[in-house]
Amino acid sequence: MSFSAVIVAAGGGTRAGPGLAKQWRTVAGKPVLRWSVEALLAAGARQLVVVVSEDGEAPAAEALRGLTGWTTARGGSTRSVSVYNGLRAIQGPEDEPVLIHDAARPFVTAAHVRGLLIGLIDADGAIPALPVADTLKRQDGDRLRTTPRDGLWRAQTPQAFRRGRLVDAYHDWRADEPTDDAQVMEAHHGRVVLVPGDPMLMKLTFPEDFDMAERLAGATRVTRIGQGFDAHRWGPGEAVWLCGVRIDHHQTLIGHSDADAGLHALTDALLGAIGEGDIGDHFPPTDPKWKGASSDLFLEHAAALVAAKGGRILNVDVTLICERPKIKPHRQAMRERLAAILGLPLDRVSVKATTTEGMGFTGRGEGLAAQAVAAVEM
Ligand code: MG
Repeated sequence: MSFSAVIVAAGGGTRAGPGLAKQWRTVAGKPVLRWSVEALLAAGARQLVVVVSEDGEAPAAEALRGLTGWTTARGGSTRSVSVYNGLRAIQGPEDEPVLIHDAARPFVTAAHVRGLLIGLIDADGAIPALPVADTLKRQDGDRLRTTPRDGLWRAQTPQAFRRGRLVDAYHDWRADEPTDDAQVMEAHHGRVVLVPGDPMLMKLTFPEDFDMAERLAGATRVTRIGQGFDAHRWGPGEAVWLCGVRIDHHQTLIGHSDADAGLHALTDALLGAIGEGDIGDHFPPTDPKWKGASSDLFLEHAAALVAAKGGRILNVDVTLICERPKIKPHRQAMRERLAAILGLPLDRVSVKATTTEGMGFTGRGEGLAAQAVAAVEM
């Protein structure tokens, strides 16, 4: 079903504390406004108007960089004027549904939109609402009264309307500033229905709401797994680098860089978890720049890519496969080195070792192999 949307992002949001207006702040590394714009575009909005104040044009462009399919309209002195200006910027059939949404509710989804559009089929307006669960008190001077909560609902956004009906309703509105758009439709004798609300449609109002939003954003994240494998051949030498630790040994591993198979396998595991190719794509062995390079660099680069994608490394696990040198005496130093490079607590970093009981190329002492897995939340 075709629909358009107006997102109101023109407010100053003074209750959210000093600093940037709340729609420009970030939740889980993403601007608050961008959460809603991405979600409504993904839900299929035909036209999406973001209402901003005069000095909101630049931060909106910054927050929505790279997204297409949205335009801005200029906000007014009150929310209702801003909504009206946004409505007037929408073109198309008058009876097409329009969703009015507050930028400060970042966790709207396509499922919310579907529920509203279905609710709107035989109504002039459909709004998400939650029953009031807490006991309500009214303070009258020093007297406290309990207010019955039966039949009381908390209205959220987005709210869906027949666009022509809402424009008419706003045109006729003469009372004080309404607290939502459904109020305007109700006054216009429009039929507004409730659809199930969702705690995820919380509004960012006070500074502490941002802490809650960060936790809820965590609930929208997924865990991704990557695995890596590497092997290098033994050659003459006096020491070997494994998992960022130098171990005295009568041989060394041969390679273009320092041949640290543990770090290479782990770097590939991280790249795999975020779908960023493999270590050879990022550090071509044909590039003389990486000759003899410390493989710490490779792992640091992969960790930085994870962070740049908004990801967080949950844990890593490396297995070294060789007969010699004995890994166990160095295992703790390796864990500490990996933890330092990745900025992880030690209990999220594991290094294990095994032999292949004399079998295969590791068993015959021709080379050393390493396997790694990494879990990333993003
Ligand atoms: Mg390698």
